[in-house]
Amino acid sequence: MENLMDKIVSLTKRRGFVFLSSEIYGGFSSCYDYGPLGVEMKNNIKKLWWDEMTKMHDNIVGLDASILMSPKIWEASGHLTAGFADELVECKKCHHRFRKDFLEKNKCPDCNGELTEPRKFNLMMKTFIGPVEDEKNIAYLRAETCQGIYVNFKNVMNSMRLKIPFGIAQIGKSFRNEITPKDFIYRTREFEQMEMQWFCRPEEADKFFDYWKNERINWYLNLGIKKENLRARETPKEELAHYARKAFDIEYNFPFGWKEIEGVHNRGDWDLSNHSKHSGENLNYFDEKEKKYFYPYIIETSVGVERSLFAFLCDSYEEIIGGRTKTTEAKKEKEIVLKLDKKLAPIKVAVFPLVKNNEKIIQKSKEVYKMLKTDFVCFYDENDSIGRRYRRQDECGTPFDITIDFESLEKDDVTVRDRDTMNQERIGISKLKPFLEEKLKK
Ligand code: ATP
Repeated sequence: MENLMDKIVSLTKRRGFVFLSSEIYGGFSSCYDYGPLGVEMKNNIKKLWWDEMTKMHDNIVGLDASILMSPKIWEASGHLTAGFADELVECKKCHHRFRKDFLEKNKCPDCNGELTEPRKFNLMMKTFIGPVEDEKNIAYLRAETCQGIYVNFKNVMNSMRLKIPFGIAQIGKSFRNEITPKDFIYRTREFEQMEMQWFCRPEEADKFFDYWKNERINWYLNLGIKKENLRARETPKEELAHYARKAFDIEYNFPFGWKEIEGVHNRGDWDLSNHSKHSGENLNYFDEKEKKYFYPYIIETSVGVERSLFAFLCDSYEEIIGGRTKTTEAKKEKEIVLKLDKKLAPIKVAVFPLVKNNEKIIQKSKEVYKMLKTDFVCFYDENDSIGRRYRRQDECGTPFDITIDFESLEKDDVTVRDRDTMNQERIGISKLKPFLEEKLKK
């Protein structure tokens, strides 16, 4: 779709999903704020991922490690050395800076000027702990959540009496001083990751790598991402990160091309052996059957909350030129529907009084709203024509709109409109809760 990117940026601002951070001060370098609908949708994504990992799998437990950690962790992991640096080039004419691996030719993409030789640029965000800003007090905002998992491997395993294979899941903020943050919320300097680290026997690593790759692809498909917009791409050997033995990127067909939304990596014993070496604490595993110690291999699944939210928004965006509603003033107007999976939708149910000037209808509508709002994320709206209210909720991806009309006063029922089919059903108010519960489960 032409300009899908612009349309998504505009819709997400108009409907309260995503705002430019510090907007009244002119914005702040690729930082974004998530509005009322954005935060609901992010919470839905995180909850769905968390439940998938910790409830649907027997042997995965959770962790919430600190963002600030000992800098020694980042030395051991390779993040403070060349391992976590991008190659930066600068245009000699306009002085714009670029990531070398993103350039198609050796000229400045902005002014065609000549570029400098590449130099390594470390992506760790630096800060100072305490009041004195000197070398001794440097700390880093974590660049990935998984290091907090590796250094807690023994704590978690021993406290929960776990035996391999098992997994540790974590959701949290990460920070990278990206040279070229771009493409809206796709690449930012502050983002949230959902990472799961699966500890297993080395000889089982290939089997679990395939298992997790398939599980993760299915997660997106089950949440409505169209099959043709998703693919898995094996990372060629020469592009593998310093810790990876094997890697698959799960890619989504964004308006700006196929791009990674999630990485699945076989990290071998890199992390546990390195942290053992650097910390002096042996993070190995004792095999009771074979009576020997070894370092488990790690299969990692790692996804950004914002990147997946962006993919879900792009995939569900539909525009109907001329409008779906032929009988109202919506005729000939363009209509937008976000066909989000019901589990992802930020608002589940909207409640409308048919008219604003009838006290009985308003009162009944508020009663229905009050009854539903403790069980569903609910939105009450009495402004504008009913057609406009439907269309506003379609743009927000709200699966069900409930209208209270004159008949409702006599029959104690409502109409429930389905976002996708626009079918309207009359449902008794006493049956409304179980009806919606059933519908929203699917
Ligand atoms: P890229 O090649 O796009 O820089 P990466 O391969 O360095 O990404 P990983 O280190 O594998 O990314 O991070 C795992 C996941 O974390 C990514 O798939 C993505 O969803 C998310 N992520 C990484 N960097 C960013 C960022 N700057 N902004 C938003 N999300 C990010």
